[in-house]
Amino acid sequence: MTARVLVSDDLSPEAVRILKDAGLEVDVKVGLKPDALEAIIGGYDGLAVRSATKVTAKVLEKASRLKVVGRAGVGVDNVDLDAATRRGVVVMNTPGGSAVTVAELALAMILSLYRHVPAATASVKAGKWDKKRFQGREISGKTLGVVGIGNIGSVLVERAQALKMQVIAYDPFITPEAAGKLGAKLVDLDTLWREADAISIHVPLTDQTRNLVDAATLAKMKKGAILVNCARGGVVDEKALAGALASGHLGGAALDVFEKEPPPPDHPLLAQEAFVCTPHIGASTEEAQSAVAIAIAEQLVAYLRDGIVKNAVNAPGLPKEIMEQLAPYLPLAEKLGSLAGQLAPQGPAEVAVEVSGELAAIPMGPLAARALVGLLRHFLETPVNEVNAPTIARERGIHVREARSVEPHDWASLVTVTVKGAAGETTVAGTVYGKREARIVRVGAFRVEAVPEGDVIVCENDDAPGVVGNLGTALAAAGVNIARISLSRLDDRSGAFSFLNVDQAPAAEVLEKLRHLPHVRTVRAIRL
Ligand code: NAD
Repeated sequence: MTARVLVSDDLSPEAVRILKDAGLEVDVKVGLKPDALEAIIGGYDGLAVRSATKVTAKVLEKASRLKVVGRAGVGVDNVDLDAATRRGVVVMNTPGGSAVTVAELALAMILSLYRHVPAATASVKAGKWDKKRFQGREISGKTLGVVGIGNIGSVLVERAQALKMQVIAYDPFITPEAAGKLGAKLVDLDTLWREADAISIHVPLTDQTRNLVDAATLAKMKKGAILVNCARGGVVDEKALAGALASGHLGGAALDVFEKEPPPPDHPLLAQEAFVCTPHIGASTEEAQSAVAIAIAEQLVAYLRDGIVKNAVNAPGLPKEIMEQLAPYLPLAEKLGSLAGQLAPQGPAEVAVEVSGELAAIPMGPLAARALVGLLRHFLETPVNEVNAPTIARERGIHVREARSVEPHDWASLVTVTVKGAAGETTVAGTVYGKREARIVRVGAFRVEAVPEGDVIVCENDDAPGVVGNLGTALAAAGVNIARISLSRLDDRSGAFSFLNVDQAPAAEVLEKLRHLPHVRTVRAIRL
């Protein structure tokens, strides 16, 4: 029977032609109401959408022969992934399809700021001929700092070199070699803020990147530097940015994205001449819209005609017997990957997942994949899951090693995750008590017994009296409640470690205070 595809959002005619030329039967019905979609979805094997069609659990219930949903674009918020997975429906997206387009907007922003194009245009249109006021700067020879070199950032790195810029970059999830191949020198964030003449942000919005650019980071930037954000609102503290422009510390700033869109008319940035903005049009070019439509059409053909899965964002089911044994360990593996990823120095080159004890007798691929999900999830824009995590790791030059041993030890089964990079390695291990109680039992050289859940502060300190009391007092003063503490010391008493589960993430200034307490060596906030 010929496979049938419903195109329920605007795809380009070329994309529809690709589906038809492949011998698929295609219906284009754009703008269907939910009831209408539910009424007809039962007749299709494939569904192609952008963001308008809501593929809800109710729609999926009626989709008795549906095998695949293709989303032309990155975000899959409009598809109920759990419901699709339960019904065995593969959901695909098209990561990177608009990378060139967004990178080009970032470049346009940099050039506009250096040559005052928007302000000069407004001035000429207002009848003025103010040549002196709009003297600009060349970008040739300047240092560009790119924060986040994923799909979009890496295109910008390449393009900027053609314009004779020196490129430095910060990305905790790429090796210096991979960055070097693109043509960027990997540096730490502090160096980037201090050395770049122009800074362009290309990170997802996560707990770590919210307000990544705040008053403190702006103060570190060179006088006259410019800042561009075509990534996500919320990564830049807009009030602090307005302050840095008003004081003349920054030479200019450009945003395509705002914390609140559209920004209110009295937004302090809108009154500044050295501020350039666009209404979240980073991905809006004919070429990008057409590229993602063509990509999803080709992916649907590959799956429905040849059974080849590309860019799937949901997980296939595991055999029931394996699933039952692995089930309690899968969330543990994800937490271990997440913990190791957040503790490890930047640039992981190898991730080793080792399973020992009773668990070593069953296939461990799903466990390793879940550890990678935990490791990568906090850092990437595209949804990361067991299906795409191994591919994403490979594409980023991260070597994944799986190992098992049946060696006896203190726990029935133990999962160990080690992240290695040029700057050293971080090992964490965990187990499950009973059938559900996950515990972290090792962090680096320290044996602990900690619950991997929620907001956590990890602290390395001297093995001296008063440290825990001081931490507790400082956190209490900041209104942060400690839910659990696990303490540990090295056998030779050369160091000690505290793992604190707290009820809310401490603010950056609270962490800074903790770092200055007596005998404290390092303090990190982590979310598990
Ligand atoms: P991506 O996932 O390919 O790349 C993101 C990169 O950021 C990764 O390499 C990751 O390792 C890095 N990263 C994560 N946390 C970091 C941190 N704390 N510091 C530095 N680097 C960090 O994503 P992408 O497709 O390149 O998209 C980048 C951003 O652009 C996303 O926020 C996305 O939502 C946004 N975007 C905006 C538009 C627009 O219309 N303006 C369009 C598409 C994408």
